[in-house]
Amino acid sequence: MALSACPSCDSSFLQPLRCEPRGSDEVLVDLRCPECMTHLQAPFSRADMAELDRRQSEWREEIVAAYERSVTESMEALAACLVPALAADLIGADDFAPFRSPGGFATARRTAR
Ligand SMILES: [Zn+2]
Repeated sequence: MALSACPSCDSSFLQPLRCEPRGSDEVLVDLRCPECMTHLQAPFSRADMAELDRRQSEWREEIVAAYERSVTESMEALAACLVPALAADLIGADDFAPFRSPGGFATARRTAR
């Protein structure tokens, strides 16, 4: 493939932003590196574009898996705090009630406890 890694940080997660045809078998692609924020432009053949598309699907799966791991870790950390708080009777129904402003409108609670 024409360009498979970021020239600045060697990340393999280059993201195509837009492309512009240049001739019958070449496409000029604007790419962005999500790790070092470098923007670059590179010519790709149609075959390179197909390979880039295939790799993007793989990267997307990798990113979704990392996101799901992160959500799981975050929820586990919240549960680790919630269990002792419930055991110490520090949480009641009022903790889940929407905050009512003096005008009577429910808004997001702004005060930390
Ligand atoms: Zn980079």
